[in-house]
Formats: sequence, C-alpha cells, structure tokens
Amino acid sequence: MRDDFLIFGQPLIEQPEMDEVVASMKASWLGTGPKVREFEQRFAAYKGVPNVAAVNSCTAALHLAALALELGPGDEVITTAMTFCATINSIIYVGATPVLADIDPDTFNIDPVDIERKITDKTKAILIVHFAGRACDMDAIMAIAEKHNLKVIEDCAHAIETEYKGKKAGTFGDVSCFSFYATKNIVTGEGGMLMSNHKPYIDTAKIKALHGLSVDAWKRFSDDGYKHYYVETLGFKYNMMDLQAAIGMHQIERVDRYWTRRQEIWGKYQEAFKDMPFRTPAPDEENTRNAYHLYTIQVSKEECGVDRDDLLVFMKKNNIGVGVHYLAIAEHPFYQKTFNWSLEDFPHAVKYGRETLSLPLSPKLTDQDVEDVIEVVKGAFKKIT
Ligand SMILES: *Cc1c(COP(=O)(O)O)cnc(C)c1O
Repeated sequence: MRDDFLIFGQPLIEQPEMDEVVASMKASWLGTGPKVREFEQRFAAYKGVPNVAAVNSCTAALHLAALALELGPGDEVITTAMTFCATINSIIYVGATPVLADIDPDTFNIDPVDIERKITDKTKAILIVHFAGRACDMDAIMAIAEKHNLKVIEDCAHAIETEYKGKKAGTFGDVSCFSFYATKNIVTGEGGMLMSNHKPYIDTAKIKALHGLSVDAWKRFSDDGYKHYYVETLGFKYNMMDLQAAIGMHQIERVDRYWTRRQEIWGKYQEAFKDMPFRTPAPDEENTRNAYHLYTIQVSKEECGVDRDDLLVFMKKNNIGVGVHYLAIAEHPFYQKTFNWSLEDFPHAVKYGRETLSLPLSPKLTDQDVEDVIEVVKGAFKKIT
C-alpha cells in the first residue's frame, strides 16, 4: 500500500502562475483588473467566441445566465436529474421552477426523449450539462429547443475541451457557463466564466455581476479619471479577482496538454479494467471530443457482488481518494420537500448515483499513482466479495 493519501482531484499548479500571483501581490493589485481582462481574452480565443465574462464561480455564472435570459417565476426550466446541485439552484435563485429529465443510462447525459416528455406551455428553457466531459446529444436537443422556441443554457463545468461534430461545447446554446473550481480541468481556485454568441447577454451579466452598476463602473478599477457610477438594476458581487485570473491565464495555455495527459490516464484505466466485473465508461461517441473530466466505474451489487459504498471505504482505507459525482438530485431532502420529486421518476439517475464512483484523473498523477489506483481497485474485488 502507498504511504501517502492520494488526494482526489488535485490540480496541477506550475511556476508561471505562482510567479503571476506573486507579481499581483507585489503590485498590490488583488481585485478585478488587467489580469482578469487577459484571462478573458485568452479564454475567448480558445473557444473562438469573443463575448465572455469572468466571474467568481460557475454557480454565479449559471445564476447570471438565468437572469440574462429573463427566466423567472412561472417559468419552467428542464434540466438533468444527474448533476451537481448548483445547476438546479441557479434556476431556483431566479424564482423559476426546475423540471428534471432522466439521463441516458449509457452516456449519463440528459435524455432528449425525456426532455420532450416534460415540456409544458410554461417551459422556457433547457439547461443541459455535458456530464463528465461527454457531449450531450446536441442535434436532438437543439431541434427540440427550436421546435418549442426554448432557450438553451449549457453547463460546461466539466466540458471546457468538449466538442460535438467539430463544434465546441458552449457554442450551441444561448449562454454557457464554465467552472475553474479547484478540481476542474483548469483551475483558478474558485472561478467561473460566462460565454455567449449574443453580446447583449454578456453585457447584462457583467452589470449584474458587479452590484448592478453602470458599465462604466468597471473603469473604477483603472486610473483614467474619476467617474460617478450608478446602480441601474439589482446586482450581485460575482466579479473575479486578478489573483484568481493570475492562475487561470496560465492554466488556459495548458488546457490541451492537461487534456492529453488525462486522456492517457483514461486509456490506462480502460485497458486495466477491461475484464473486471464492473462497468467502465462507454467509448466516446463518434465525431465528438470528450473532455475526460471524470472517470467513473459503475458497481452494481447484483452484477458484481460489491457494494459501492463498501468500495468507497475500501479505497480510502487504502490511501486512494475517490469521489461520488453525484447522488441523483431527487435524493436530496431539500428538493424532495420543495418539489415533491420521487425517485421512481428518475430511475437511471438514481441507479447511476448509487452505483458509481470516480477515480483520480488529474494531470498531476504520476504513472505510479495511476498504477496504485488500478492495484487497489483490482484488490477490492478480491477482498470485499
Ligand atoms: C462544479 C460544478 C458547478 C459549480 O461550479 P463552481 O465553480 O464550483 O460554482 C456547476 N455545475 C456542475 C455540473 C459542476 O460540476
């Protein structure tokens, strides 16, 4: 057994971002400023979309996206039954009603057939998640949106590198949201980004991200003269700091290098586990690019005699950090109480949430780390049964 605990989802931090953070500190410029602008420009160049706004989390970005699309009380937003709670909460923040669609049991992405089933005359938008980095079925989803005149928000928290038929994730819908949380594919610690092909959405979001102050308020972070600024609408405190952007502006330059390393680790796992009794991720769909954000194995007690929760304990006892992404949304007491959701309505999401665990997949892993993970997983199936 390895001596030290292998932390799940550890980011790879390199010298240029360390130097950049120190430079911000030496300049005594911690808040929003030129480094945020630089990070936005590099991110926009990577995605090929000029309209972006850096904010302090993807949760903030999702909230701003719902506000920009003017979703509110009386509106229904269809979203996936398998995601992080922030996806759902962003709909609730604006007073709209989340309506869950179940997932496809092979891709774990929202099932377009169930989206169509959930549409009512109150439905205003679809909020999709490219889950674990695998692209959603965008042809089907955009056709539904067009047919029923619905807005589309893309939660790309797992999907910065994802592509579908040659088109980048986040360029299909009306607004898209990215996360740079410490465990995501590139990091700023906490941080997020909004992106849209439609500039007015980003302009609105920028105002609401900074107290609802007039656009010129952003200039108060520079030194060209004095300007009064005015509160024009209700806003929030969602701006990104230069200290965060100092990390992100270097991380974004390595996004493909990190992707290549995660793809390599993914391949090692697929090869090592091909004869194991649990389910490994499905092969990538043709003509798509998977962002390889999570490597999950699905352990069905009936099929392989091992209980997922026992496996979680075994992995941790053997110094391998693992994660659960996620329990199905309808499992959480708050949502059950508030929306009366019952588990039977989302059988695939519930099963997935109870049977899967995510193995470490960070570019920081050494080949030895990857071998350690494989050895412990294989050992578990000899010892737990
Ligand atoms: C991480 C995550 C978020 C929230 O991102 P933060 O930057 O931590 O706010 C939203 N949606 C999904 C699917 C996520 O995984």
